[in-house]
Amino acid sequence: MRLITYQSETGPRIAAAGDGGYVDLNQADSALPTAMKTLLQMGVEGLKQAQAAITDGSPLDQQPSKLMAPVPDPQKVICIGLNYADHAAESGSPIPEEPVIFNKFPTAVRGHGDAIVLPKLSDQVDYEAELVVIIGKQGRHIPREQAFAHVAGYACGHDVSGRDWQLGKPGGQWLMGKSFDSFAPLGPELVTCDEVGDPGQLGIQLRLNGETMQDSNTKQLIFPVDQLVAYISGVCTLKPGDVIFTGTPPGVGFARQPKVLLKPGDVVEVEIERIGVLRNETVAE
Ligand code: MN
Repeated sequence: MRLITYQSETGPRIAAAGDGGYVDLNQADSALPTAMKTLLQMGVEGLKQAQAAITDGSPLDQQPSKLMAPVPDPQKVICIGLNYADHAAESGSPIPEEPVIFNKFPTAVRGHGDAIVLPKLSDQVDYEAELVVIIGKQGRHIPREQAFAHVAGYACGHDVSGRDWQLGKPGGQWLMGKSFDSFAPLGPELVTCDEVGDPGQLGIQLRLNGETMQDSNTKQLIFPVDQLVAYISGVCTLKPGDVIFTGTPPGVGFARQPKVLLKPGDVVEVEIERIGVLRNETVAE
């Protein structure tokens, strides 16, 4: 199933792709909610009901023109650093022996088509294409062999990074450089696990103004999805709608000679096999 959150006249609502277009889930079945996090909280049963609603319901007369992030309001945005060996090398960092974990504030989340706002306070904004895991079922201390039962699906993610703030501020914290408003585009859809298959076999690319800057495969991940879910849940409870950015392959702008930095009017596309294309344009603050 391919699920979206879209902006309607009355606010955010959720829909699923059917043969004739998107079907609004709550319109098709009033027992279904209008928010993605609430749907995910219903567990496998909620997704089954949503599947039935696509079959029984009719597509929206007016197809959504404005998408939001599939989960516009995750409680947690967890990110993995240096999770591709060749990206660690280009960053001048050793290959990590344990996952490198940081986070973004949820206020950074945006959807497909939303602007990435280049902040007045940063002049070194860089791009990073990433596979994003969306948690379905709550869990703590999730064993690796049960990890996929806690994953609802996947989306394309863009870990926009202010390198001057990530690397040049006291204390070595990445949080602020990763958390400017609009620095976490996500989408366009939540694609459920059954449609994606093995998340460790997906081509992943980033195009900047049509030119391919990153081109890899998630089989290069040092720490795969199930290991990350197990590792993170050892520390904190993973909740429905939480998202995990799994790290970026090589080819980022600040590691290039000369450096490539985002400038107003750039169009950035993150494409992941079987998941989709997330497209955002940059604007100056
Ligand atoms: Mn990243």
